[in-house]
Amino acid sequence: MAPSPFLDPGPTSSANSLALLHLKRDMLIPTVLDNAPPTSETDYAEGKVANTRFGSFPHSTLIDQPWGSQILASNVDTGSRGGRGKKRKREGGDTPKDVEGDGEDFKGGKSQAAEAAKSGFIHLVPPTPEAWTISLPHRTQVVYTPDYSYILQKLRARPGDHIIEAGAGSGSFTHAAARAVFNGYPDAEAAPVESLPANGTSPPKKPARRGKVYSFEFHEPRAVQLTSEIAEHGLSSVVRVTNRDVYNEGFCLPESPSEPAADCIFLDLPAPWLALKHLTRTALSTPTLNSLKSSTPHTTSTPAATFTSPLNPKSTTRICTFSPCIEQVQRTITAMRQLGWVEITMSELQHHRIDVRRERVGLAEEGLRGANASAATVEEAVKKLREVEGRFKAFHNSQKDEEDDSKDKSKEGSSKGKRKMTKQQRLESIQAAAESRNLFKEGRLLHRTEPELKTHTSYLVFAVLPRQWTKGDEERCRKKWG
Ligand code: SAM
Repeated sequence: MAPSPFLDPGPTSSANSLALLHLKRDMLIPTVLDNAPPTSETDYAEGKVANTRFGSFPHSTLIDQPWGSQILASNVDTGSRGGRGKKRKREGGDTPKDVEGDGEDFKGGKSQAAEAAKSGFIHLVPPTPEAWTISLPHRTQVVYTPDYSYILQKLRARPGDHIIEAGAGSGSFTHAAARAVFNGYPDAEAAPVESLPANGTSPPKKPARRGKVYSFEFHEPRAVQLTSEIAEHGLSSVVRVTNRDVYNEGFCLPESPSEPAADCIFLDLPAPWLALKHLTRTALSTPTLNSLKSSTPHTTSTPAATFTSPLNPKSTTRICTFSPCIEQVQRTITAMRQLGWVEITMSELQHHRIDVRRERVGLAEEGLRGANASAATVEEAVKKLREVEGRFKAFHNSQKDEEDDSKDKSKEGSSKGKRKMTKQQRLESIQAAAESRNLFKEGRLLHRTEPELKTHTSYLVFAVLPRQWTKGDEERCRKKWG
């Protein structure tokens, strides 16, 4: 099994694996690299090509590159695709209709090596949950990096843990959770370190429990798309996606009774309190059921004889619910209290990014990139006004001269040329001066907070369910500790 590029990207990009094309900050294009040659008339002569606003990038130029490399754009004939169309065009005489008509006997595109373009580049970066959150195809609102970093840390999600997630939505949280709990692939051939005998004689220990994400999604097309993305990202053995309504059906997996045995839970659902009744250690008692029914009327109970808990009986369970409205929080907390959850707290994250940059203002910036070329001082403003007024006067005088038909044409020509040259000369001298300036150090240093919040502002409710405590546990404890 190939390792997931999210968990072990290796030193370079590789064919048939996900890579991210970094165009600029917050603009990444995910693409599965493919070095197959063109096979049809609609393929590019260079094979698979990623077309971006910074140029075209044949996948052959992206494969086997060290992560972080700058990749130059290539000249790709995006008009006439495939080797055949191109060749015929060069021969001349073919109309698009002719090429179309000839398509039947086409025996595959003619492969062509990529040729670097004069400008345009991108950076090639490995997939990470953070980059995926920015670039994934959105099906729903997603949980952003500042939120899931805080949530996973508060849930104490560690390698080897089992985590329940509902609803899975676009899979943003899913990828971050998978990385947090990953401690090896379940079917890894090599024995886990813990299972190796310490000395030659002692028996091997039990293999380590493998971290896993149990993801539940009610909307079938979303569940199907997430399942295929998870497979494409090599995470199928770390993430299990189930298409289910968790309010009614809960979180147990009848085909695998030892799972999910969750250590932590994340609920990003419209009504998390409706799912809480399934997250208990034992069947609900009649008084609990009655009190729950008063707050959530459609509550039904599972008979104690058939009850199975989706929680790990050997560990404390931590939960986080993610709700945009305070009314949802209130209902969730009420249900949590009735069901024995403790240490209930609520947090809200307000994440603003601060942009720090230099602002250069002044007439000396005219024609230079990234600057404001308006007057920076009164003197500069007056100078500019004089210049504009002078040009205005000269224009009117020349008009008047034309009307009087007494204008010396050669003089006019030279004066026009002089006016044009003045601006051109000015720009040239600014450009020349800029070469010896330290533009990156000039101007006022500004910092501005981002105007809009990127995170989906929600209230995060955290709570803890103590580990299961049986009579047997109590007796064992009394014996040991007195
Ligand atoms: N956390 C996700 C992410 O980071 O991409 C986004 C979750 S989205 C806001 C909420 C999802 O919950 C939706 O996809 C919706 O279909 C799903 N959902 C709503 N009710 C559900 C239920 N009863 N059982 C399972 N999923 C449900």
